[in-house]
Amino acid sequence: MKKLTLFFLVLCAFFSCTKKEDQFNLMEGLLIKNARIISTEDLSISEKSTIVIEKNSIIYIGNNAPEISGTYQNIDAEGQYVIPGLIDSHVHVTGTDGLSEEEEIANPSIVKNYRTQLPKSYLYFGYTTLIDLGTTKPKRLSDFNNATVKPDLFYVGGGAVIGNGYGLSNWKDSIPNFIYQEDENYPIPEKYLKENHTPEAVAKRVAASGAIAIKTYYEPGFDPSQPPMPTPSKELMEQIKTEAHRNDLVLVVHGNSTKAHRFLADAQVDIVAHGLWNWGDESLGEDNQIPMGVAKALDMEVENNIMYMPTLQVINGLNSLTTPEFLNDAELKNVLPESLIDYYKAHTESKYLEVFGDAPRDMIQRSFNRISAQGKAALNYLYQKNAKILFGTDTPASPTFGNPPGYNGYLEMTEMVNAGIPLGTIYQSATIKNARAFKLDSLYGGIEVGKRANILVLNQNPLEDISAYNDISIVIIQGKALDRESLSALRN
Ligand SMILES: [Zn+2]
Repeated sequence: MKKLTLFFLVLCAFFSCTKKEDQFNLMEGLLIKNARIISTEDLSISEKSTIVIEKNSIIYIGNNAPEISGTYQNIDAEGQYVIPGLIDSHVHVTGTDGLSEEEEIANPSIVKNYRTQLPKSYLYFGYTTLIDLGTTKPKRLSDFNNATVKPDLFYVGGGAVIGNGYGLSNWKDSIPNFIYQEDENYPIPEKYLKENHTPEAVAKRVAASGAIAIKTYYEPGFDPSQPPMPTPSKELMEQIKTEAHRNDLVLVVHGNSTKAHRFLADAQVDIVAHGLWNWGDESLGEDNQIPMGVAKALDMEVENNIMYMPTLQVINGLNSLTTPEFLNDAELKNVLPESLIDYYKAHTESKYLEVFGDAPRDMIQRSFNRISAQGKAALNYLYQKNAKILFGTDTPASPTFGNPPGYNGYLEMTEMVNAGIPLGTIYQSATIKNARAFKLDSLYGGIEVGKRANILVLNQNPLEDISAYNDISIVIIQGKALDRESLSALRN
């Protein structure tokens, strides 16, 4: 052994082969010069850094000019800002925004164009990592993953809904990972075996599917005139949490009412997948004061370290059905095929009817504006208390054209600004905080050696103006640099 070391030492003395740390012979490389990198940890900005990427990984960051040879592409980021790709931790890639299954069948070319564009639309707005929080169609996940240019996609392996509860009322849907809760009013249909639908069996199956989290629901329903749908008991939620953690899965739970948030805070779940905007009988005080019941639920979430996804665009997305002029927003042309925008424009009336029936438009608007304000007030309250805020849009949240892929993330960020959330907090929520929450931070959430080369080059500083996220110059995905405009639906 000693002899061998000596031999190498001698050899190196002659040929000066000590490999300098900043010397790279690249295969499929990318070199970014003059980068002002914004740290996701402390928001500091480095000057004139050099980033070296090989294949899909960052292999060097420093202030020296490393010696590079081999095959690589140069990017000079002089005057620009370099940040990690954004993470949207609440999407559903299942369907075609706002189209029912029947409409999808009747319009195959629109659906085909939409699916081809979908991954690019997320990238167009800088979302290079997505977490699908529940789909009944695993094939759509693999279709999405088969695209040549696409964000990195993680998933929860089908919603672990509560038997006959929200998402599975009347057992009418086939959701293989539902969890059965004993209830004499809702006995499990004979075709299912109870033992396949315990938290233990479901968590095992979800983990085996390659999922990173388990998603379940606390949702008694949205229609106060209807009897409440079954929700999990405290004991059941405890079991789900135990089994999720035993299988190294993060526990994400749907809930948006005061009751749900209080229940989930008390149960100490990992993440609540929606903001608290459904305040029941309570409302904002005259001086924008949060009412007592809501404040108590939010306080408990802070105390118990619950991570909170505001998903402000859920309500705005629905509300845009009342304002079809939303479809004239020029930005839509970058993320949706023109044929789909035209289809929406021709069906604004029927889309409204589908969701709101014959309820008057101004009444719906007033009500949704109030709910949206409640969501923002709750978010601001949590921010003031230093709560753990994640970034998730729930795209698309409902059968609406109001949650367009990619652009919905930008609209969500804009709403967070409207809620009084500082740009630094928004930046961290959509990067390192999301990555840590879902245990993806070894590869995502920052620009560091060893991390995935998913990077954005921005023309403006996102810590100064939110519009920087809509002023992207280059999107680097898995080490491949793409001109932003090449991702636009106008080009495809
Ligand atoms: Zn969702």
